[in-house]
Amino acid sequence: MKVIGLIGGMSWESSAEYYRLINRGVRSRLGGQHSARSLMYSVDFQEIEVLQREGRWAEAAREMAECAMRLERGGADFVVLCTNTMHKLAPAIEEAVRIPLVHIADATAAAVLRAGVRRVGLLGTRYTMEEDFYKGRLAERHGLEVLTPDEAGRRIVHDVIYDELCRGEVLEESRRAYLRVMESLAGRGAEGIILGCTEIGLLIKPQDTGLPLFDTTGLHAEEAVRLALE
Ligand code: GLU
Repeated sequence: MKVIGLIGGMSWESSAEYYRLINRGVRSRLGGQHSARSLMYSVDFQEIEVLQREGRWAEAAREMAECAMRLERGGADFVVLCTNTMHKLAPAIEEAVRIPLVHIADATAAAVLRAGVRRVGLLGTRYTMEEDFYKGRLAERHGLEVLTPDEAGRRIVHDVIYDELCRGEVLEESRRAYLRVMESLAGRGAEGIILGCTEIGLLIKPQDTGLPLFDTTGLHAEEAVRLALE
């Protein structure tokens, strides 16, 4: 079994989920007492969140590259960056290490395509919804048409992530607000919704909606298990 190298802590609420899903995935594939061989380097999210908010991406890139190098030195066979947003810095990570980075957007797009969905709604942080590093990859590499919420919707989705979900708060009112945003994406033609932030799965569950959901945390963790056991 290969050693999975996780860059976590962004936030740890979702990293804990990755850890659980990866270990559960290995046990369900191998049975018995099997669990994943893994390393996690977990950051202090306060520091990262300030760098993001202040647009200090070069510093954030150095930090991510350093995390990946620590994992490589520790014996990881590949890197799993447990956040969608920080994939903005995927090129810096890929340059810093020899081991591969398992890109979260690729694992997600593969599941969207398998489900026969071509036009998909995307929820995530502002960075993920508004910049090209994520939407562009889904469109150009995978041929998906990506719809994002309007400005008011994007503000709600982004604020709930940082003010609530990353702090471990899951509120019914926010669940209802997210469902309204998702319905409006469906009204514009989205055939499914990418939960493109690793904490959203803590708020929105498949039973909350009739829309097909693509939870990036689960899909990324599943891909990590597949590669570890390959
Ligand atoms: N976990 C989140 C994501 O998947 C947001 C936190 C972060 O900015 O990394 O984008």
